[in-house]
Order: sequence, then C-alpha cells, then structure tokens
Amino acid sequence: METAFISLGSNLDNPIKHVLDASHEINQLNNITVTRLSSMYKTKPIGPQNQNDFINAVAVLRTDLSPTDLLTSLQSIEEKHSRKRSIRWGPRSLDLDILQYGKLVISTKDLKIPHPELVKREFVLIPLLEVTNPDFIITKHGKIKKYL
Ligand code: AMP
Repeated sequence: METAFISLGSNLDNPIKHVLDASHEINQLNNITVTRLSSMYKTKPIGPQNQNDFINAVAVLRTDLSPTDLLTSLQSIEEKHSRKRSIRWGPRSLDLDILQYGKLVISTKDLKIPHPELVKREFVLIPLLEVTNPDFIITKHGKIKKYL
C-alpha cells in the first residue's frame, strides 16, 4: 500500500462538480481510497486567457495499484468526464495528474513522477500544502516550503 498525491482540475461546465464527482469516483475504484481532499481553489488559466478560471484541488490516496495502473484508472475517469485534448493548455472538463507516488521517481515517456510541473505551479503547491505540512518532502526536490 502506498500513499499517492494527485491534482484535480477543471474549467468547464460546473467545474466544482467535475472535481467533487471525480474524487468520489476515484474513491469507488478498486484498490484506491481517497483519504483527504483539499479545498477547491479558483485559479487563473495558464496559456490562453480567453477561457474560464479553473477549479483546482489535491487529493491524498492510499492505493495498491502500480503507478501505471493508477494512471490508467485516472485516465478512465477523465474520459468519463469527456475531456477534450485538442488545445494545449486549453479548456478541460477534467484533468487528473499524479503528483507523487510514495518516494518513487519515474521518468518514462508516458509517466513522470514527481510531476515535472509540480514545483512550478502555485495552484498545485498550495492545495498540496493544505493536505500535508510545510516540511513535506517532494521527491527529488525537498521540502515544499522552499517553493512557496
Ligand atoms: P495532460 O495534458 O497534462 O493531462 O497530459 C496527459 C499526458 O501526460 C498523459 O498522456 C500521460 O501519459 C502524461 N503524463 C506524464 N506524467 C504524468 C503524471 N505524473 N500524471 C498524469 N499524466 C502524466
């Protein structure tokens, strides 16, 4: 059993509902329990500005799934929320990213953990701080408080 941290984001059609529903759906998957969900944070989009603000949150999971199986499970939930992948940094009904998985470092074509953008994005760091503490270690990078 490992502890993993994921980010949830949405800026289309009732984004708070997308994020809350996704959290429930993840919790209902076999071999995953959501042990904590941060507050919802309203943030400005990166990239094109002619789109709605985002709702972002971070969840803490306990899971028996391997990182790749976890990614596949999260992608099935993204699909269910009919995410459109057409525009880079464009609007999305649901984006789920694995931020950290135990102490693992993974760098393959399809999966990079810790998530490469994690330490650069306040909209991920602030909810991650909420569900951890200032001394929480981001694998490879060190204490979260260094980045805030
Ligand atoms: P995005 O547009 O950010 O949702 O990127 C989706 C792609 O990122 C997927 O096809 C994944 O294979 C890849 N990816 C690489 N690392 C991660 C990660 N840590 N969490 C989620 N997706 C990842």
